Formats: sequence, C-alpha cells, structure tokens
Amino acid sequence: MPPADHHKVLFQPITIGPKTLRNRFFNVPHGTAYGVLRPSTWASYRAVRAEGGWAAVSTEFSSVGPSSDEFPLHSSDIWDDEDERRHKLMVDAVHDHGALASIELHHGGAHAMRRLSREHALSPSGLAGELPPPAGPLGTPKIMTVEDIDRVEQSFVDAAVRGRNAGYDIVDVLAGYGYLFAQFLSPFHNHRNDRYGGSLENRARFWVETLSRVRDAVGADCAIATRMSVQTQGPWGHTLEESAALIEMADPLVDLWDLNVGSVLDWGSDISPSRVIPEGRNMDLFTRIRGATEKPIVGVSRWTSPDSMAQAVRSGVIDIIGSARQSIADPFFPQKLYEGRTEDIRECMGINHCISSLDRGNMACAQNATAGEEYRRGWHPERFEPLEDKNASILVVGAGPAGLEAAIGLAKRGAEMVHLVDSADQVGGHLRPVVELPGLREWGRFIDHRLIQVDKLSNLQFIPATTLDADAILDYGASHVVIATGARWLRNGLTPSTHAALPGLDGLKWVFTPEQLLLGGERPTPGCRVSVYDAEGGYLGSSLAQLLANEGYNVSIVTPHASVAAEGDLTLDGPAVRSSLHASGVAMYRDVLLTEAGLGVLRGVGEFEVPFSLETDAAVLVTMRSPVDDLYQQLMADRQALDASGIDAVYCIGDALSPRPLAEVMFDGHRLAREFESPDPSSPLPYKRESLRLVD
Ligand code: ADP
Repeated sequence: MPPADHHKVLFQPITIGPKTLRNRFFNVPHGTAYGVLRPSTWASYRAVRAEGGWAAVSTEFSSVGPSSDEFPLHSSDIWDDEDERRHKLMVDAVHDHGALASIELHHGGAHAMRRLSREHALSPSGLAGELPPPAGPLGTPKIMTVEDIDRVEQSFVDAAVRGRNAGYDIVDVLAGYGYLFAQFLSPFHNHRNDRYGGSLENRARFWVETLSRVRDAVGADCAIATRMSVQTQGPWGHTLEESAALIEMADPLVDLWDLNVGSVLDWGSDISPSRVIPEGRNMDLFTRIRGATEKPIVGVSRWTSPDSMAQAVRSGVIDIIGSARQSIADPFFPQKLYEGRTEDIRECMGINHCISSLDRGNMACAQNATAGEEYRRGWHPERFEPLEDKNASILVVGAGPAGLEAAIGLAKRGAEMVHLVDSADQVGGHLRPVVELPGLREWGRFIDHRLIQVDKLSNLQFIPATTLDADAILDYGASHVVIATGARWLRNGLTPSTHAALPGLDGLKWVFTPEQLLLGGERPTPGCRVSVYDAEGGYLGSSLAQLLANEGYNVSIVTPHASVAAEGDLTLDGPAVRSSLHASGVAMYRDVLLTEAGLGVLRGVGEFEVPFSLETDAAVLVTMRSPVDDLYQQLMADRQALDASGIDAVYCIGDALSPRPLAEVMFDGHRLAREFESPDPSSPLPYKRESLRLVD
C-alpha cells in the first residue's frame, strides 16, 4: 500500500546545502552511551535506523577535544585518526542504507566532565556551571582568552574535517543545551566586556566565527547545520526573541537549523516525558521564530503521530521532523508509514527509559527490545529467525508485558501454535490498570501495539478469563510452557533498606497494596488521611498519591530517598511530578525511613536520626515486589509429571522470575523467544563484547 495521501508530504525530498534528504525524517542527535567506545554496537544501532527509512541519521554529541572530554558520559569523540576510523564504521553502515550521516560537534565548556583528560574547564567568564554535583563538575572554569577562543574554533574545524573525511554529509555545530557556545550566547554565563561579550552580536561572535570557519573548511562537501535551544526555563539561556535574532545573524552560514528547547538543567523540557508534556508542544515556539529564516528547519517535539508530523510540515513551521525517541522505539517508522502500515508502528510511549538507562550506562527501550542489541545479539527489529521445530506447541501463562512479548516473538518465529492464557479478560497484566493513572495514558501504547500483533498472528491465540493451575497445565497438551505470572507488592512494609517487615501495621485502619487500589478498586472512607509509603522510588508511588489526591483524600507521601519519585530525576518527569503533587496539596516527606506503625500513626526516623511521626488512617505500601512463581515451582518439583504429560521444557520469565521495570521484563520475554532453541533457553546466550585492543 502507498502512504496515505495526507502523509505524502513527509516523503518529499528536501535539499540542504549540497545534500538532499530523501524524505522529512531526521534521526536527530541523541545519546546512547555506546559512543566510539563500542563502535560496532553504535554503527549497527544507527544503521538499522537508516535501513528503516530515516533520511538522515546523526551521532550523539561528538566532543571536539580533550578540554571537552565527557567521561564518564559517553560522547562519540572525534579527536584523532583512531576516532575517525570508528566514525567511518558508522558512516559507511548508514550510507549502505541510503541515508545521510550527520555528526554533532560538541564542546561542553563549563559543563565538560574532563575525568579522563583532567584538563581545566573553559568558559566565557570564569563562572561555574549551574549543574549541581554529582551531575556537574566542581570548580571554577578558566576564562577563555582570545587565544583559547581561536584554539577551540580550530578544534571545531579539525573535527569537521575529520568528519568530512570519515564521510559525514552533515556537520551540526551544537550551540544549545547550555554548552560552550550557549554559554557565550547567554548573559547568565557571559559577563565579558570584550568583543565576545555584551551585545547579542558580540555574544554570538564565537559561534558565528566557528560556523564560518567550519563552513570554509567543509561547506563545499557537507551541509552545515547548527543545533540551538530556542528557549530554556530559568535564566541560563537566551530569550525566544534573541533566538530569532541569532538565527537571522547566522543564517547565511547555515544550511539547516536544528532546533529544540531546554538546557542541561531542564532536559525534561526537551526530552519531554509523556507523563507531563504533550506531543507537539514546541510548535508554538517554532511558529514564533519561523519568520527568522527561510532555510529548512528540523524541529523536535516528541513526535509520534504521523498526522501531527504531516500537519507540522504542511504548515511550513518546520520542514523536517526531528526525532530520537520514536526512532528508538521503532527504527522502521518511516518505512511502515511509506508502506501504509501505520498499524504496525511501535509508538514511543514517552516513558523515558531510554534516558534513565543511558544515564546508567547503556541505552535501552521499553517498547523495542532490539534497541542496542542489533550488533551484540544480532537482533533485527523486524526480522525473526524461523524456529527449526515448527511443531512446537507453546503455552504461555500470563499475558503481561513478558508473556505478551514472548508469545508474539514465538508466533513470529513460526511456532505451530502459541496459546497465551490469562486469568484476566484482557492482555496487559500489571500494566493494564497502570495506564489509567494520572498522566500515564500513553503508556497504553505498549499494550495497543501488541494487541494488534496478537490479532494479526493466526498462530497466536489469546485465551482470556482462564486461570490455570499445575494440573491444568500438565493436561494442556503443550510441548513447551512459559510461566509469566508476574509479581505482587508486599503487604508487610519490608523495604530495600530494612529487609524486615514494618511492625504494628495492624494498628492502622486500612493498609493497601497497589493491587488492592488498582485491581480491586478498594478505597478507605472518602476524604480520610492516606499515607503512601514509597520505598521503591519509581513512577507508582507518586502516581497513586496523585490519584488519591485527585479523588479528594488528604494525602501524604513518605520516602526514604532524598527526593520524592527519585527515579523521576532520571526519567526527567520528577520535577513536574513533584510540583503537581505540591499543587494538589500532597505533603511530601523525604529521607524518612519508617520503623513502625501504631494506632493511627506511622513512625520512623528522618535524616540525622530525627524522630518522625505522621498521623494517618490508611497506608499504601509501595515498598518491594515478590515474584508470583508458585506455578513454576510446582511444575519443576515434579519432573516425572512433566515427562508423563509430554512437556519438554518449562521456562519462567518476567516479573515471575525477578520483578523489574517494564523494559526489563519485556526484554526477558523477547530474549526467550529469540533464544528458544538455544542449548539452555533459561540462560541468556553470551553476547558479543567489544573490547579495546591491549597495547604495550
Ligand atoms: P510481567 O510484568 O512479568 O509480564 P504481569 O504481572 O504484568 O507480569 O502479568 C502477569 C499476568 O499473569 C497477569 O495478567 C495475571 O492475570 C496472569 N496470571 C497469573 N497467574 C495466572 C494463572 N495461574 N493463570 C492464568 N493467568 C495468570
């Protein structure tokens, strides 16, 4: 099928300087933590996006030299010949699939980490970076002399030349996010009174000079782009009006404007979580700067809907759709749209697992198990190896994320029949009620995508409202059984910090687990005092607190962590979630470890052992989960019964094996499907490890 008529605008080629994009999909710079330290992982990851139809595929931030060494963050450095060879690996792989390759040249200035190079930091005016420790480096950066400025300009030129020699089509000079050029552009950092400070024109000089020198060096061969945050929250950026003036100023030197929002301190406004920021939110800002340039603009805005993308391009406000997360969730988004297969698109949920996992050292996705596994495990997002044993009849017990993913993978591999059985009348498992929580509706895309696949796969049958016990499984007639029965929250108040039950919970009028609230619909008396004890720190505690506050309860949230919804500081929704709780009147207690409950009271210790007590009628315990694996244990305890019933193997996956975040339990199911015929499918096969050569 051809693309729908109203999507065709997204498939018109567009020229940027000496290059032409084959369509309007630009896979913009985004971190992976693979960098040039894992060049094959990196090249394969980017190449699959090119194969999936993106017209241009970019690196993450590529540091131009040791004064911007970003270790322990993973930049794709472009300092020397060895780096150039690594970049070439990615460029060639991207070119093989007909896409343009783009490199984002970066200098962090005051924010540069410099842990390996141990050089001093550079800055316009010797003012320390606004990022607090541990995220930002300590110390006062050096004021850049005119000679320093010249040296850094030259390092951008050298990096651009290396990039051109490696084969890049687009050189994108990063002037956003509060890094070095943005520090010069902003009066927050730039207090200079020479020709690089003061007026906007002076503040822009370093960036404009660099663009000019880069253009002179490689502009005949490469399109020149520059990435700019058109607006930041707080004082550390520049205004939207200044952005428009800056665009006019540098326009003759630029073939493509790569626009976004935010800075190092408000990443969440750029990498916006669906929980707090809707798709397309930046369009209003882009509309207001459009008049400043006639050059093409690539704009990001958590794009996921083809209709919204087409509308954004048709309106002329932006010319090219910039996307990172949708390309992570579905590298074949453009291809599927081109073939009119919108129903097969795995929409990004905006859950931001890609960011939290990146920060923990290896980017992964909660929708797409293959992201980052293209090279090391050889997984392709759209292709599955056929099973050798076509007669395998597989029973999957539990249609939560793990069971769903395993069942779909096995069906795609051509198993004769896969039965997916669940006590519930719908698929989705623990995620089904979660998507009804405040702000989490888009997380339902996980279920929607898989439901469509279940419907399409004739060898996969979902059997709802059926609870299986061990005897029923033995009698089922399956050759292989996959147990994906999930986990449940503890009701005894045991936490990761105590490893012991919380004494005295009987003294409270009501004690709830999340399941009792979400699945059972249980509630205390309307309007009473409810305390959510969130010792986990994920999305759930704060979501339940918000839900109960919305329902009119007098809500407190207590956590032993240094901040409420601590994981939200990695998924970037933390600040907005906390401010929403505050606005809803939820009392927040941090750094409090509960030690006992009494008659209508929770007691504990705060920081410095300061005693804590909170009067409450009800407690909601979000502390730790334990696996629901009794079925698995029963089956495995009687090998003879398994043999007698013709069951070759039983596997346990997902939360039933070990309760973990969504991305990990989904990955578990996916891995089992991919490795179903390995010597021991319960144990992951070794993956290819990239290591640096040992040298003398
Ligand atoms: P995961 O996150 O590992 O996928 P979930 O908790 O989301 O796990 O899903 C587990 C699913 O297993 C739930 O939908 C639950 O109804 C189902 N389930 C648990 N025990 C049984 C059983 N004995 N028979 C059928 N379905 C079951």
